[in-house]
Amino acid sequence: MIFKSEFKGSFNTGEVKEITIGYPVAIFLESDPLNGITTILSTGVLYEGMKWCIVVLILSILFGRFVCGWVCPLGTLNHLFGLVFTEKKKAQRINENRYRESFKIKYYILLIIIASALCTSLLTGFMDPISLLTRSLVTSVIPVLNIIVRWALDILALSNIGFIQKIGDMLYNFADKTILSFSQQHFHRGYIIGIVFITILLLNRRITRFWCRFLCPLGALLGIASWFSIFGMEKENEKCTDCNLCLVNCQGGCEPIGRVNWHSNECHMCFNCQRVCPENVIRFKLFPQKKEIIDTPNLNRRRVVSSFAAGLLVYPFARASDEVKVNFNEKLIRPPGALSEEEFLARCIKCGQCMRICPNNALHPATWEAGPEGIWTPVVIPRIGYCEYNCTLCTQVCPTGAIRKLTLDEKIGKNGKNPVKIGTAFYDRGRCLPWAMATPCIVCEEWCPTPKKAIWLEKTKVIAPDGKEVLVKRPHLNVELCVGCGACETKCPVGDKPAIYVTSIGETRSKENQILLTPFRRKRR
Ligand code: SF4
Ligand code: SF4
Ligand code: SF4
Repeated sequence: MIFKSEFKGSFNTGEVKEITIGYPVAIFLESDPLNGITTILSTGVLYEGMKWCIVVLILSILFGRFVCGWVCPLGTLNHLFGLVFTEKKKAQRINENRYRESFKIKYYILLIIIASALCTSLLTGFMDPISLLTRSLVTSVIPVLNIIVRWALDILALSNIGFIQKIGDMLYNFADKTILSFSQQHFHRGYIIGIVFITILLLNRRITRFWCRFLCPLGALLGIASWFSIFGMEKENEKCTDCNLCLVNCQGGCEPIGRVNWHSNECHMCFNCQRVCPENVIRFKLFPQKKEIIDTPNLNRRRVVSSFAAGLLVYPFARASDEVKVNFNEKLIRPPGALSEEEFLARCIKCGQCMRICPNNALHPATWEAGPEGIWTPVVIPRIGYCEYNCTLCTQVCPTGAIRKLTLDEKIGKNGKNPVKIGTAFYDRGRCLPWAMATPCIVCEEWCPTPKKAIWLEKTKVIAPDGKEVLVKRPHLNVELCVGCGACETKCPVGDKPAIYVTSIGETRSKENQILLTPFRRKRR
């Protein structure tokens, strides 16, 4: 679905009309019970589409961790990577697939996430497997893949050998319909997300499904749900010949072998054990006898308390630093429709859907702009891309409502309403061509999309370095009309640091981050 969540249309600047995306691109994220439960805890409500996560949770309560074995795309990827490292000997695989006490780490991680969510600090996105996967695909894997595929296709096209070029054309048509992006996207520091993702995949070399067994908080949540499962394993112990085939093929590390208790909360319901057992020792059935089942992880009480306390401490520690309220970061420009910063941090699961859909590559994963809680949340970097005037796509795909749905009329401010403002532009006159270099330029004014231009030009004669008089148009900014879209900054021809730049001040979502204009305020438009 993530390959589909890209906008491939065009924005006709001559005609302002609503552009909508017609398919449910966030369905996986909306069906994720960890996202659903933690956003309920942090906000008190279950956001629209997330009702699907209740269905998944009920099914997991009835049938165990089937999501880990059959649905979770990160689990599948981990499994595939585990299969790649097949040089391991049978004894080694048996050893690595045994149950370990350290599988409990994921439960402590879950407790930290739940406790912090109770304090409205949402850490879910850092570790939730679906958010982690979509973020990694969006900001690093797809852009990298795009470069490699285009590069390979270019080599075929430039080969000047007829049949190779034909193969290249066929491959291009296929790639264009499947994995190729409409345009190459570049994400700020996307490589860090890529390194984390590759590390997770490489951990499968050490132990198959390392992430799922040791770290995944969604796996832990589904493990808890499975305590009440009506579906499970029964073993005919006396038939077991200790061939160990079940252990060699076990995905979860849950001890399917005969004469040993089965850890139902670790089982991924892959049924590999049942499939490979030559003696039919293992059977999955409804209402199994519970006598040889360990269904709870038997957590250490002291560690439970300290994990919960650690989660509760995240909020005061994060909010005692200055980013959220006291010292507004000028680079923390949120997408249009973003809620106030505190509400935003209580909802954003760092999934990157908004970044993927943005047609102008305006949205990027934050690093420290919003403090530690805000890492990987979306920020506009206008030097890379600007917010399209008649676009509301990011507001349509956010699964949690961190970016609320906006109609185009709301965004651009029709029917007497003010437009949504995400920041304000400022001039650096020392770098501006007409102001500092006696060189005519009106690029920023031309690109400004507001109906009445937020940039106005003052015709003036200046003296050039050769002593001649030059007529230039010096740009000025009307702060009242600027919506902070950043088109002027993106297009400013002064390289590296532009002569016009946008900062977050004046953003509609904040009452505090404002310029005090009241004494001079004029009627808008
Ligand atoms: S940031 Fe602007 S251009 Fe990008 S998706 Fe959101 S509304 Fe569209
Ligand atoms: S704001 Fe963006 S990254 Fe955050 S939850 Fe919404 S779509 Fe995902
Ligand atoms: S940011 Fe620049 S282009 Fe956008 S409205 Fe303001 S002045 Fe115009």
